[in-house]
Amino acid sequence: MTAQSIAFAAYIVAALLFILSLAGLSKHETSKQGIVYGIAGMTIALVATIGQVANHAAGISIALLLVAIAIGAAIGLWRARIVEMTGMPELIALLHSFVGLAAVLVGWSSYFAVEHHSGQTEFAGSLLKIHHAEVFIGIFIGAVTFTGSIVAFLKLSARMNSKPMMLPGKNFINLGALAAFIALTIAFTVSPNLGLLIAVTVVALALGWHLVASIGGGDMPVVVSMLNSYSGWAAAASGFLLNNNLLIITGALVGSSGAYLSYIMCQGMNRSFVSVIAGGFGVEAPSSSETEYGDHREVSAADAADILAEASTVIITPGYGMAVAQAQYPVAELTSKLRQRGVDVRFGIHPVAGRLPGHMNVLLAEAKVPYDIVLEMDEINDDFEGTSVVLVIGANDTVNPAAAEDPGSPIAGMPVLKVWEADEVIVFKRSMASGYAGVQNPLFFRDNAQMLFGDAKERVEDILKAL
Ligand code: NDP
Repeated sequence: MTAQSIAFAAYIVAALLFILSLAGLSKHETSKQGIVYGIAGMTIALVATIGQVANHAAGISIALLLVAIAIGAAIGLWRARIVEMTGMPELIALLHSFVGLAAVLVGWSSYFAVEHHSGQTEFAGSLLKIHHAEVFIGIFIGAVTFTGSIVAFLKLSARMNSKPMMLPGKNFINLGALAAFIALTIAFTVSPNLGLLIAVTVVALALGWHLVASIGGGDMPVVVSMLNSYSGWAAAASGFLLNNNLLIITGALVGSSGAYLSYIMCQGMNRSFVSVIAGGFGVEAPSSSETEYGDHREVSAADAADILAEASTVIITPGYGMAVAQAQYPVAELTSKLRQRGVDVRFGIHPVAGRLPGHMNVLLAEAKVPYDIVLEMDEINDDFEGTSVVLVIGANDTVNPAAAEDPGSPIAGMPVLKVWEADEVIVFKRSMASGYAGVQNPLFFRDNAQMLFGDAKERVEDILKAL
C-alpha cells in the first residue's frame, strides 16, 4: 500500500468520524461523545496530512508545517481557555474569517502554481478552464466569508453598531456585485490574468462587508450560522484546488448543515431565508422618529419579594443579561425556594435568547435547574395569560411586544415571549438601555410592568434574602 492510499483511507475514516460527531452533537445526551468523535477525526486528518507532506516534501517544508501547527494549536488553546460563554459567537465569527482568508490564499497560490505556469502542469484544455473557474469561485466565497465574518465579529463584540447599514440602492449593490462576479469569471476562464484576480478579490471583499453590515442585530444569529455555512463551502472549494478529498467532504458537511441550521432558524424567527442571506433584501430603513412610550415604574427587591410571596404561578424568562451577570445560580436557588412554598415555577426559553443557540439551557443546566420546568417558547407562549408573575431576567429583544404589534419595528414579525400577557412583570436590568437589536422595548412602560434596576445576580440575591 502506498503512502497516498493510506492517507486516503485515513481521510475516509476521519470523514466518517466527523459525520458521527455531527450526529452526536445533535442531542444533549450524546454531545460529549460527539466532541470525542470530532477530536479523533481531526487528529487522524492532521496525522495523515503531515504524513503526506513528509512523503513528498523536503525537511524544511515539514519543519514549517509543524511550526505552523504548533503556533495555531497554542493560540487555539489559549483562546478556548479564556473565552467567556457570552464571547463564543464572536470567537466563532473570527474563526470563520480565518477559513475565508485561507480559501483566498489557497486560490491565489493555486493561480500562481497552475495558471502562471500553464503548459507545464497536469492541467490542459478544458481541465485547465475548470481549474480557472475553481480558483475564481474559491476566492469569491472565501473573500465574502472573510470580510462578512469580520463585520459579524465587530458587531457581536460591540466594536461596531449592530444597527443595519442602509446604503441607498443596497439591493442593486449586491446584485451588481454578483453580476460583476459572473462577468469576471467568464473573462478569467477565457483569458486568466492577475488583474481579473485582483478585481474579483476586491469585489468579493466589498460584497462580504456590505452583506453583513446591512443586517440588523436581531438577525445576527442567522448570519453567524450562514457564515458558518459559507466557510464550509470555502473549505470545499479549497479542497478541489488542493485535490484534497477530506477538505471537500468536510467543507460540504459544514456548508450544508450550516445552511440547513440557518433555514431552521429563519423559520423559527419568521424571517425570509433569501432576505437574510441577501443582506436584508427589501428591508427598508426603519423610520428614525423615536416613539414616546411614557413613564416606567420601578420596584425594590423587597417589594419584588412580596409580590413573589403572593404569587401562585411564576414564569422566568432569562436572556443575555443573566449570562453576563452569571445570575443562574441565585435564580436556581430562588426557583427551588419558591417551589418549596408551593409556587408553580417554570422557565420560558426563546430560541435566540443570549448570544448562541441553547445558551440559556446550558446555563440553567449548569445551575441544576430541573429540565422538566425549562420549556421552549412554543411550549409556554400561550401560558403567560393567567400567570401571576413573570420575571424577565436580563432579556430584552426576546420579550419585546413591538415585534408582535408594531409592523414598522426593525424586529417586526420575530416571534417573542408574550410576557406582557401576565398579571405582573418584573424586569431585571441595569438601565433603560435597548437590547442587542438596538430597539426600544415598550414592555418597560406597560402598566403591569415594573423595573428592578441593578446587576441581575445581586438583585436576585437581594430577593432571596428578603424572602
Ligand atoms: P438582549 O441582548 O436583547 O438584552 C439583554 C439585556 O440584558 C440588555 O438590555 C441589558 O440591559 C441587560 N443586561 C446586561 N447585563 C446585565 C446585568 N449584568 N444584569 C442585568 N441585566 C443586564 O437579550 P435577549 O437574550 O433578550 O436577546 C438576544 C439578542 O441577541 C437577540 O436580539 C438575538 O437576535 C441576538 N443574538 C442572539 C444570538 C443567539 O444565537 N442566541 C447570537 C447573536 C445575537 P442593561 O444594559 O440596561 O442592563
